[in-house]
Order: sequence, then structure tokens, then C-alpha cells
Amino acid sequence: MIKKDKSHQLFERAAQCLSGGVNSPVRAFKAVGDIPLFMQRGEGAFLFDIDGNRFLDFCCSWGPLILGHAHADIVRAVVETAARGTSFGTVHENEIRLAEMVKSLCPHIDLLRFVSSGTEAVMSAVRLARGWTGRDKIIKFSGCYHGHSDYLLASAGSGLATLGIPASAGVPADFTKHTLVAPLGDTDAVATLYHKYGSDIAAVLIEPVPANNGLLLQSDSFLRFLRAITEQYQSLLIFDEVISGFRVAPGGAAARFGITPDLCTYGKVIGGGLPVGAFGGKAGIMHHLAPEGKVYQAGTLSGNPLAMAAGLATLEHLTVNSGWDILEKKSEVFVTALGKALNRQPAGLVSIGSIFWISLQPETPMRPDQISPESAAAYARFFHEALEAGVYLAPSAYEVGFISTVHDDNDLNRAANKLGEIIRGIFSG
Ligand SMILES: *Cc1c(COP(=O)(O)O)cnc(C)c1O
Repeated sequence: MIKKDKSHQLFERAAQCLSGGVNSPVRAFKAVGDIPLFMQRGEGAFLFDIDGNRFLDFCCSWGPLILGHAHADIVRAVVETAARGTSFGTVHENEIRLAEMVKSLCPHIDLLRFVSSGTEAVMSAVRLARGWTGRDKIIKFSGCYHGHSDYLLASAGSGLATLGIPASAGVPADFTKHTLVAPLGDTDAVATLYHKYGSDIAAVLIEPVPANNGLLLQSDSFLRFLRAITEQYQSLLIFDEVISGFRVAPGGAAARFGITPDLCTYGKVIGGGLPVGAFGGKAGIMHHLAPEGKVYQAGTLSGNPLAMAAGLATLEHLTVNSGWDILEKKSEVFVTALGKALNRQPAGLVSIGSIFWISLQPETPMRPDQISPESAAAYARFFHEALEAGVYLAPSAYEVGFISTVHDDNDLNRAANKLGEIIRGIFSG
């Protein structure tokens, strides 16, 4: 058994000063029935905890660390920037440079605005969609997570799925009455909602690569249908690319699928491990934001110099070094090896780009309700045995795994074999 003494001590201390001992619920390891490990250091593809254990990291800070931990380019950019001041509360050049970089990678984005989290990005994009259309309702999909703002916590996946919370307490029904929820992949349900509420629907909001309730890959035709019906009713299509942006392709899912949404939201990778979110899209819509337009949106630390520098260093490194090709190749290595290791086991492996998800059930789910409670329960054992083997997965059956550009092929092969062995052990009793 790996040593956890110091983590145990720290978690007791944490519980005395932080609610639940954590600053984000899934970090607590509740779903896998243990206390969380306190990390001390990250280096490349590895995490080191306070008890001296080393793990090959497939969580990658839930997605942002596409270049791994403490990448030299990012560290240099942040240190050099910090020495010149951590925040100005004014405009500065790196905001433009990062925005120009995003535009060059995502041709469907005319104008952007930076915020400090994915939650803020989606919240602001939805407000803009409502302001622009003059309509109140939005359609979201069951199992898609869009951050923790009140009206988006309906059937939202992520930590709510992990902790078995159908919808958050503290959200008045009045606040969610404009949130219409449809099942993923269900064109009829969306058509019915439009039929009923068409002229009141401001936007359809979707994770084009739903990755917060397992990895529930949708067909291109479903996304195309959403593009068509939103156009038909003159409402907006918002792609929440907080996970998929700069991950499944340089231009995110919009580019990968060749579908142009009206607005897009970003987070995670765009900040290179610092708190950044962004939303952007067509100029005609983005001009409606204050100060030009009547939709208010603001942030004391938005466009923060350190955060812009980290995001810029990340996207520049990926661009200059064919990062996305490397990621595809590394993912291929891992997925192929794991696929082989899982030979004839009743377990599923789904992946797109450098995102993967292992489900401990034979059928590949396309919707949250197709994920069996037994498979989620078996995950706790899988997670712990992986930890013992030096592999750090997300502490939840519903969260996906990420590969970075610095995951070594040998480590990926070894981890795949080990995970396969653990799964064979689970299914043989
Ligand atoms: C993580 C995530 C968010 C929320 O981002 P935060 O930075 O955690 O606020 C929103 N949408 C999607 C698709 C996400 O994966």
C-alpha cells in the first residue's frame, strides 16, 4: 500500500478550515471512498504527493495541462511576467496577442472576451445570447456541464453526477424555469421544444464533445441538426468548448466537425494552468457587449497578465511544435495498448484526440442514463488499484482522462498494460 500518512494529517487540518477540506467537490475523493492525496509537485507527466509517491498523471488538472506540469515555456512566461507586475487593471498587449492567437486557430471567432473561469465564460455567453435575441429560454442537454452558475446546474454531470446530486440545492425554481433540458442525441426532443417555445429560445448550449458525464460522443449529424434548427428559429448555437477547445483540434470541436457555432466558450487549455476562460464568436453578436452594447459583463482580474502569458505560452508551444499531431500520436499509442490489454473484457474505451474515458461496462453509453450504477461502483476499486500502481486517474467514474504532449510512449504503454491487468482482475472477481 502506498503511504498516505502526511495526506491524512493534512486532510484533518484542511477539514478545520476549508469546507469539506476542499475548494472543489470532486477533489475530495468521496466517490472513491477515501481521503484525497495532497500533491506537492508536478513535473512533466508526473505528480508527486507529500508522502513521496509518484503518479503518472491522467487528470492533468482536469484538462488544462496539455503540456504537462511545470512546462519550461510556461514557467518562464509566468515568472518573467510576474516580475513586471501581476495585475494592472488596465489593457495590456498580451491580451491582444492571446486573442489574435485564438483567432488564428479558430477562424470562426471574430471577437473575444477573456474571463477567469469556464463558468464565467458560459454564464456571459448565455447572457449575451439572451441580450442579443431578446429571448429568455435556453436548451441544454442532460449530462452536459457548463460550470456552476445557477440556471445551468440542471442535469449537469461532472461533480453532480459524481456525488449523485440531481440538481443543486440553493437554486430557486424561478431561476431554472428558462432552462429547457433535452436528452443528448435526441433530435425529436429538441424539435418538440422548438415547436413549443421556438420564439422564446435564445440559444442551444452544448458541449460538442460531452466530456463531463463520461465521454458521450455524439454524431456529427446531431450537431448539424442543432446548427440547422437554431438557424431556422433565429436563435444562437453556443458550443461550450471549455474542455474540447484547443484539445480535440487546434480549432476545437467546431473545426474538427466543421460546424460554425455563433458563440463559443473556452477555459482549461486556454489558460495553460492559470485561471482563464473566454467567450467569443461572430462580431455582430459580440458588439452587443458593454461598453459598445447593452449586455453587461466585467471582471477585476479578467485578462490577467500572468494568465494571458501562460495561455499564450501554451498555444504558441503547441503551434510551433506540431503539438496536436504529437497529442494524436500519443493518444493512439495509449488507446491501442489499452484496447489490446482490455481484450474481451466487458469494459469500454472511448476517445477523441487526447481525451479518453474508460467505462467498466460492456455497452458504450451515449447518454448519462446508460451508465450503469454498478460500473460507477466498480470504478472506486479500479481507481485505488491504479493509484497503487502509480497511475493517477480522476477520482470519479464520470470524469475523463487527458494525455499531454510530455506523456512518454513507454510510460503510456506500461500504464495501459497495468490498467488492463487491473480491469481483468476486477471482472474475474
Ligand atoms: C470545466 C468546464 C466548465 C467550467 O469551467 P470552470 O473553469 O471549472 O468554471 C464549463 N464547461 C465545461 C464543458 C467544462 O468542462
